[in-house]
Amino acid sequence: MQQYQNYQAPADALAGKVILVTGAGDGIGREAALTYAKHGATVILLGRTTAKLEAVYDEIEQLGAPQAAIIPLDMKGATESHYRDMAATIMDQFGKLDGLLLNASVLGVLSPFGHINLDSFQEVMHINVTAQMMITKALLPALNAAPASSVIFTSSGVGRKGRAHWGAYAISKFATEGMAQVLADEYESSSMRVNVINPGATRTKMRSKAYPAEDSSRLKTPADLMPLYLFLMSDDSKDITGGSFDAQAS
Ligand code: NDP
Repeated sequence: MQQYQNYQAPADALAGKVILVTGAGDGIGREAALTYAKHGATVILLGRTTAKLEAVYDEIEQLGAPQAAIIPLDMKGATESHYRDMAATIMDQFGKLDGLLLNASVLGVLSPFGHINLDSFQEVMHINVTAQMMITKALLPALNAAPASSVIFTSSGVGRKGRAHWGAYAISKFATEGMAQVLADEYESSSMRVNVINPGATRTKMRSKAYPAEDSSRLKTPADLMPLYLFLMSDDSKDITGGSFDAQAS
């Protein structure tokens, strides 16, 4: 097992940090938002279902963690100007962004290549690739205003080795790995680091959509992945950039 897969963060590892999590209302993003808050961060919860974000906000309040912020936004329809407005609000309120977890994505339709539907392909590529680029681009000034910022993209096993029938989703995750490499190389000598996490098979709604017949009780939970999510957000990883990491031991 790699050291970062059993990383233990001090309780105040993220104190004073402002961290934005996309897809914070459910699954891995929800767990990451709660975990970051528990470790002292002010978390900005971005997602498309306001009720889910409000539930996470309330849970953070009950923990006695720093008050969270909510950005209800559907990455399917949002344009560059939405992301620019969001970045301006973050700069006004916080003056910096220490962490960006690009977690939200969609599975789309799994099908043989010859059956790929163009609308569905474009929707997956838009949410999983184009929107991630737009969010990151808009937030670069806020990330560069922090003393040591961390950008984490979310990939998948099928973003490193193609697999039959995984079509747009797999292609979008290869693009995600590429986007992270481009950005990491460009900012190599800056205080902003850029890395990728492959969560591995995890008990969430996305996983059960991809594998409806599977016994999900055998899968890792989002909580099991958090050592790596914490490590890459904490200052203990501040010299690490351009990496692609597995959250689970293989
Ligand atoms: P879930 O489907 O459980 O959660 C995804 C989250 O993203 C939800 O909160 C969802 O919002 C949000 N989201 C989806 N589309 C949009 C959109 N258009 N605008 C804003 N928010 C959106 O997925 P997981 O937690 O399983 O996955 C998290 C990440 O991990 C993804 O990038 C996924 O590809 C990756 N991954 C997951 C694996 C697994 O086994 N679970 C394996 C490998 C990679 P809402 O709640 O409203 O639907």
